[in-house]
Parts: sequence; C-alpha cells; structure tokens
Amino acid sequence: MRLTKLLVPTAKEVPSDATLKSHIFLIRGGFIQPVGGSGLYNFLPLGKIVLEKIKDVIKQELDRAGAQEVMLSFVTPSSLWEQSGRYEKYGKELLRFKDRKDNEFVLGPTHEEMMVNLVRQSVKSYRQLPLNLYQINLKFRDEIRPRFGLMRGREFVMKDGYSFHVDEKDMKREFDLMECTYKKIFERLGLDVRVVEADSGAIGGSGSKEFMVLAKSGEDTIVVCDGCEYGANIEAAKRVPKKQDVGDETDEKEVATPDLKSIDEVSRFFGVDADKCIKVVALKARYDNSTEKIVLFALSGDDDLQETKACSIIGANELVEVDENELEISGLFAGYMGPKSPNENVDVYFDERLAGAKNMICGANKKGYHIQGYTPSRDAVFVDIAEVKEGDECIKCGSKLRHTKGIEVGHIFQLGTRYSEPLGCDFLDSNGRSKPMVMGTYGIGVSRLLAAIIEQKHDEKGCIWSKESAPFEFSIILADPKNEKASLFAENIYKELTQNYSKDVLFDDRTKERFGAKMKDFELMGIPFAIIVGKGVDEGKIELLKRENGLKHNIVFPEFGANSSEIAQLILQISDL
Ligand code: ATP
Ligand code: MG
Repeated sequence: MRLTKLLVPTAKEVPSDATLKSHIFLIRGGFIQPVGGSGLYNFLPLGKIVLEKIKDVIKQELDRAGAQEVMLSFVTPSSLWEQSGRYEKYGKELLRFKDRKDNEFVLGPTHEEMMVNLVRQSVKSYRQLPLNLYQINLKFRDEIRPRFGLMRGREFVMKDGYSFHVDEKDMKREFDLMECTYKKIFERLGLDVRVVEADSGAIGGSGSKEFMVLAKSGEDTIVVCDGCEYGANIEAAKRVPKKQDVGDETDEKEVATPDLKSIDEVSRFFGVDADKCIKVVALKARYDNSTEKIVLFALSGDDDLQETKACSIIGANELVEVDENELEISGLFAGYMGPKSPNENVDVYFDERLAGAKNMICGANKKGYHIQGYTPSRDAVFVDIAEVKEGDECIKCGSKLRHTKGIEVGHIFQLGTRYSEPLGCDFLDSNGRSKPMVMGTYGIGVSRLLAAIIEQKHDEKGCIWSKESAPFEFSIILADPKNEKASLFAENIYKELTQNYSKDVLFDDRTKERFGAKMKDFELMGIPFAIIVGKGVDEGKIELLKRENGLKHNIVFPEFGANSSEIAQLILQISDL
C-alpha cells in the first residue's frame, strides 16, 4: 500500500477525553475515529487492517480446534430473552426497541439465546454432538461508563462461541481445549496473558476463567500468588480465612458509644484490634420477579465486602445502595448496625472468617450503642464474601497473595443447562431419552484487543504492534523523493517485497513531507520495521530500523550488484519476518 493512497489522518493533538495511551495513539495514529456518541467508533483503513489480522489469528486457531464459524442476526427478538428469563434480569445495558409493527427486539450484548435457538432447530440427536459454533460480530451494551476508547465501548466486536454436548464430562473436555486454544491465540498476538478464576456474572453457570492481559492501566484487579499458579479476579478470589483469636465467651453487654461510628473509632474506644469488631454492610438485593430485600453482610472489622462475590453467593441479580431513611424504617442506623436481624424482612450473612468467633464488638441496631461480648450463633449463615487483601494466604499453597491489574480479553464459562433447559434445546441420547444439551460459552473481546496490545507495548512515540497484529510488516521510507536513484530503488524493493514475497508493506511515497515527519508517523503507527532509503543508496547502503528497540541495521549491497531480489531476501533474513 502506498501511503499517498491510504486514508490515514494522523494527528498531533490528543483527544480531550483520552487518558490511556492506547486510546490516544489509536486516534492520533489514524486507526479509529470517535463517532460523537460516547463508546462508538469508526474503524479507519489502518484500524480495519489490524482488526482483520487479529480476526484471522482467532479464526485460524478456532478452526484448527474444530469450531465452526457462523454469523447470527445482531437484532434479536426479545421473546428469546423472555424464554431464558434474562429479559428482566439484564438491566439497562440491554438496548430494547420496537419495530413498526410493535414487535420487541434487543441489540445482542451476547448471543446465548440466539445460538441455542439456532441449535434447537437443527440438532436433534446425540450423533450430531458435540458442536462448537462461533461468530465474530458486533455486540451492543449500553455501558454506564463507556471509556478508554476501544477498551470499553458500547458497540464493540466480540468473538463469541458456544459449545453443545451430551454430558458434563464432554463439555469440560471442550472447555479445556478452548483454554489451550485461547492461550495460543493470545501468544500469537504477542500478549502476556494470565488465566484467572472468575465470577460468572449475568451469563450464569459455574466454573469460569478469564484471560487477563497484565497492564497497569487494566480496569480489573486480579489476585495472584507468587508461590504457585493461583490467580483470580478479585470478584472471585479466595483465601485461607485468617483465624480469629477468639478469647473466652462472655455475656453480652450494651455500651453507650455516642458519636463513635467507624470501626477505627470503635476499636480505639474499646481498646481492641479492628478484627475484634464486626463490620456490617447493608445493601438491597434484587432477585427474580422484581423482589427486593435488605441484606446485612457481617465481616471482620479489618475486612471489606466483595460485592460481586456476595451477590453471586446469595443468588441475587444485583446489590444496590439503601438510603438512610429506608434503613431507619427497618430498625437499622448507620454507624450502629449489628448482625442481629432487626426483623424477618432483613437477611443476615456472615463472612466465613467469623465462624467460631466469640466475644466480639458490634453495633446494637440502636442509635448510639454497641454490644460488647457478642458471639454469632452457630446456625448463622457463614459464606465467603470478604475481599481478598494483599498478604492474605493462598488457598492452593499458603503463600502470600498480591494484587495486580489486568485487562480482560477473554472469558470462558462452563454453562451447563442454564440456557438449554428453559429454551428446550434437547437431544435424544443413545437410549432414545430426551435430555437438555450441556453447554459451554467462550468470548474474546476482539476490538478490545487492539487497545490491550497497545497498552502492553508502546513508548512515548506511539504504538508498537506485535508481528501478527501489525497493520503492515514493513514501512519503506523514502527520505528524499527528489533523489531519483533512491526513488527508483525504493520502488523496486516495494515491488519485490509485495509481489514476490507477499509481504504487507506500506510505502511512504509522500513527496511533500519531510523525512523527520515521515519517521514520526512511522513511530506513531507502530509498524515493526522501517526500510529507510536515503542518499546512502549511492554507496550501496540502506537502513533497517526496528520499531520496538530503535536499533538500526545497515544493509550494504555492492556485492549483490544491487539486485533488488537479493536485497529483499537480506531484509527478510535480518528482520526474521
Ligand atoms: P467486563 O468485565 O470488562 O465488563 P464482561 O465480563 O462483561 O467484561 P463478557 O460478557 O465476558 O464481558 O464478554 C466477553 C469479552 O468481551 C470480554 O472478555 C471483553 O474482552 C469483551 N468486552 C466486554 N465488554 C466490552 C466492552 N464494553 N467493550 C469492549 N469489549 C468488551
Ligand atoms: Mg467477563
């Protein structure tokens, strides 16, 4: 491709809402263009080339693993979402609309229902299973805070795959195969990815893993162990619960504690450590059929509630804040909340660390009072709801855990029959019995990958694409277009590399730009190598510059008699492309 023919509007200015380097460089480098409505982008030619390269890698590896590509309608009938029970559950991220005949539709944020609908119509027998179908297509999620460019868009490109099996065992085999396949895909794209345990969110199911690109700018906090392979999203991370130093059981006593509300103030007043106090967090849980309930989560005073874990474990669709008035009506007072339920409309869950705790201090559910000597009842419900902290113990090996940041680029789930059952996606087994298919589901954030690759590798000058994601493999930079010999030479190398070696080459043949500006654009675009053709051509010398480390390699060619085929071979040898 000749740069003079390519629409690549590079820019010096930084978009005002852009803070992440990937967002800044993808716009400045002319890869994407904001549409105006937030979280919406046009892909310009350069961005589209990268997108297609990434898609190719994904497609090659999935096809090799035996998956088949399909393409489902992006506009999805709401009736399917009603059948799965997700129409209400999904909340405001789901964009719902009506057509001229008043039929209701949604823009697919994920396609479990659609794929189950496809399969239930065409697969009837165990002989047709297993089956793994995927698509690479648009998704729409009306995200509350679209940001960071392609990282969190509202419209974005996802690879979503769904597998169908006769039993759990076969589904787990495919799940493992997809884990290996995903690792290969990310490795080919040059990414340093960590596989971590994850929460299953609104899609449902059990057993799920996320693929995290380790990057400081990542929105996800992940917990990793330095002693073993254990890694988990903070929303799903587990730890060995720290033992409570229980002491003797004493009688409960109400103590006046006016104006002492925080755990800090209370523990200082009683002269104990924070872990001798119980922290209570009140939230409203929303369940199916629009039911709501105030729920109290009781934790050790030095722990924090992990809301996603808590939401999953109590089987709620979401947890939301409760205002103080509503709390007071239920007999709960901010700063003085305790784990004794004030009435049957309030449920209480204890963190597992409090099992066996005795002689604690907690709020009395009475303004201005705390209780001393509180011991949770043995019949209380103890669950894992605390957020894992740095320094907590790993459940696998006991070493210390630490936090790090990651960008989620893939997520695989063991779904079971969560969708096949309500949607009637059944098959006849070898004994002629009808059973629901067992499913797995597998996603990759394809457009997010453009941002993730740049977040992991860039410098102050711009993008540094990996070999398989780069829009071009080489950029030929003609330093002085007025130099006829150099122009001719550059033309020949360009033809040689593209026609005889099928290389993707961008030829910077602009006549009005100065050499410095051409180099700046090359660095911004992040093409792996520049072939710099300058006045050295006269003496039989050109330069090969590696974008990643800025190292220059002189290519000297009098001994080849300036034969462009041999020079091209030399370039390919040195660049290893
Ligand atoms: P997140 O936690 O980042 O919101 P998610 O868990 O909702 O993601 P999934 O439903 O697992 O995402 O979707 C599969 C993949 O699609 C994710 O791993 C992610 O890479 C990508 N993805 C999800 N939401 C977005 C978005 N708003 N913009 C771009 N990519 C996204
Ligand atoms: Mg996810």
